[in-house]
Parts: sequence; C-alpha cells; structure tokens
Amino acid sequence: MNRLQHNLACFNTFGADESWSLKTYEKHDGYKAWRKILAGKMSPQEVIEEVKASGLRGRGGAGFPTGLKWSFMPRNAPGQKYLVCNSDESEPGTCHDREVLRYNPHCLIEGMAIAAYAMGATVAYNYIRGEFIDEPVPRFEAALEEAYKAGLLGKNIQKSGIDVDLHTFVGAGAYICGEETGLLESLEGKQGKPRFKPPFPANFGLYGLPTTVNNTQSLACVPAILRNGAKWFADLGPEGSGGTAQFSVSGHVEKPGNFELPMGIPFKDLLHLCGGVLGGRKLKAVIPGGSSVKILPAEIIMECTMDYDSLQKAGSSFGTGAVIVMDETTCMVRILRRIARFYMAESCGQCTPCREGTGWLYRMLTRITAGQGQEDDLDKLVDVANKIEGHTICALGDAAAWPVQSFLKHYHHEFAYMIRHQGRSIVDKATEAAA
Ligand code: SF4
Repeated sequence: MNRLQHNLACFNTFGADESWSLKTYEKHDGYKAWRKILAGKMSPQEVIEEVKASGLRGRGGAGFPTGLKWSFMPRNAPGQKYLVCNSDESEPGTCHDREVLRYNPHCLIEGMAIAAYAMGATVAYNYIRGEFIDEPVPRFEAALEEAYKAGLLGKNIQKSGIDVDLHTFVGAGAYICGEETGLLESLEGKQGKPRFKPPFPANFGLYGLPTTVNNTQSLACVPAILRNGAKWFADLGPEGSGGTAQFSVSGHVEKPGNFELPMGIPFKDLLHLCGGVLGGRKLKAVIPGGSSVKILPAEIIMECTMDYDSLQKAGSSFGTGAVIVMDETTCMVRILRRIARFYMAESCGQCTPCREGTGWLYRMLTRITAGQGQEDDLDKLVDVANKIEGHTICALGDAAAWPVQSFLKHYHHEFAYMIRHQGRSIVDKATEAAA
C-alpha cells in the first residue's frame, strides 16, 4: 500500500513536500477554520449546523451522521466533557487512517480542535492503534508538539477564552478496541471489553462523563467543510452521502492503494482507477467495506455506486470504505475460513453467542477445508450465524455472522462441492482444467 493516490480537497497536503509539517499545512490553508473560531467568528452551534448540513457521515463503519452525533452532547451541562478520536484502525482491508496520521496529521488535529470546541469538550484524546507505533504515532505526536508551540492548542488559546488540550493514547493492539465503548474502557486502563448500551457515551462515556467518539477520517474532513462550506462538501457526493471518502483497495487489482474519491463513484470507475483486475482475469466478487460487511458477486457490485444507500440496497454496506477485490481464482470456502478465524481470535469473550459461535463457525469451516465436511454442515453454519446476529453486546457478533450468511447465500455451490469432494475446491478443478 502506498500513500493516497488520488486526492481532492479534504486531505489537503497529501503529495506535498513534508506534507506532515505545520509549515506545509498552513501553506494549504490549514488552521484557517480554527483561527476563524479563535477569532470569535463562529459559535459552537454554527459549527454543528454546518457539519450537519454537509452530510458528513462517520467513516468508521456505522455511517452515523457526524453533526447529529455532535448535537447529542449535553454541551452546556456543567462538568468535564471529552472528545475521543478513534484511530484504532483494525478492520481487515482498511488502511487509510494511518495515512492521515503519517501524511496529514495537522488536518486531524484541526478537526479534533474544532469538534471539541463545538461539543464543549476541553480535553480530547487520540486513541491510536498499538501497531502504528513506528511511523504514524511519532508523526502525529510531532505535529501535536508543533501545534502547541504555535499557540494553537492549550488553555485560553490566543486569548479566545477557548481551552482545548489534545493527548495521544497508544492502544495495545486489539480489534475490539475499535468499538467505541471497548475503546473507552481501554482508555480508562481496563480490558477493552464493550459496554452494554444504553447509556450511550454522549451521556456516560469516558470516566462516566459525556463523551463523543469519532473516527479519524470523519474528524479530518471537518476543516475542509468549514473552509469551503457545507454545500461544497455535500455536493461532492450523492444525496445522503456527502463529500469524499478514502477507499482502501486491496486484493486482486493491478494498483492497490488508498484513493480519495467522491462518494457515489461507480464501482466500475474505481476498479478502472486501480488498473483493473490483476492479470486481466475475471472479477469474481468484492467485499466493499472491510471484512465484516457482506460480500457481493461481480454482477451485483459492477452495477453499484460506492455510497451508503447503493451498497445497502445491493445487500451490503459502505463500512470503512475498504474494498477487497477477488478474482476468479479465489476459493470462497478458504477465504471465509480465514475471515472466521479472525473474528474468533478477536472476540472479547463477554457474550456466549459470540465467544462460542465464532469458534463453532471456524471449526466447521476448518473441517470442510480439511475434507471432513458433513452434509448438514452448511445448514449448521447458517444456523449458528443467525443465532449470533443481533444477540450480542457489540457489533463484532454481526461482523462474524454476516460474511458466513452472505458467502453461503451467493456461493453455496462451492461449499457443497468441497464437502462432496473431500476438501477439493471448485477453483482447483477449474485451474486444472485450464492447465
Ligand atoms: Fe465481546 Fe463478541 Fe460480545 Fe462484542 S459481541 S462484546 S466482541 S463477546
């Protein structure tokens, strides 16, 4: 994977020399929106209304409208409030937040400062995935130091009466800490086990105080929205999916990488930008939003645009914008087994359907790939997945169930073939026939 290959105005220093420095960021209108706020030209309510009108939706997976989420914070209630940025990017296939930290960290710092101000939070944390300790973390921390030195953060910033302190917190590397309440538990120094909801973090968040958790990319979009206006951002995408998104494209394409493109771009165009399917082979299927969303066969995804509504109508979701492309040589049974292993390993173990069910899914799939599948295994797989879905504390249960349900819906014949042929894949048969 390399740095962002296509960029529009949101991530404004990508491609520039020393794109991570304050000097470069300010040359590209960085901190313009924040300085306007510090000069007293925009009230918190005006900021929230602008973000609402922009149509920005959370880029971390759920797609919840960001401005609306901010409006849930009891900003005028007495006492401490917190903003937490979720940079615990762990969804398989997703690799764009780390690029913001590496190449455009001031964009995120400005977005966090604006968000904290809008919600009445004087303290903000950036919770960064433990594995990012080599480059993204030092880059972000260096940028934070620059921002403090330039008098853009701290107490009574530039005599505005506004206080915003930003801190970095490096996680220990657990997928479940990407779930917002698991993240808050981890930030409090406990095991990252998700909480029952309600109460939601806006009322009972970090240390039991009002907190909003936003994704890295969502916050990094905010300075551009305030600089250019809500309409500019909304008009970049279709109705209901404003702005641009960073797509992490991986798998069987000629040019994998991150692409910042308008929401609603046809999948066909995205594939074209990635140089097409690897080796000129035929497209088989795509997981359009990270491994936890439902797989779509080629004939369906080729008719989709890459936005929330289109992918939902097609039977999947936008998720994190991580597009995993699979060509005709892919064995769906082996891929699903690998995905199932991931969710089994990452389950925090709090709820029985997830703790036990993810293990059953993995073991049944392992049995099938080892040539010991039984006739009723496919019904059992669906039954277990259905019993996990919607019956757990957090969405990891659904994330484990959806791939199983969708792979079996579209590729049932491949699983049945492997059971009948004692572990031989339908893809192996095709490869041998072609040789
Ligand atoms: Fe933990 Fe899984 Fe339950 Fe989420 S669904 S709380 S990961 S056991």
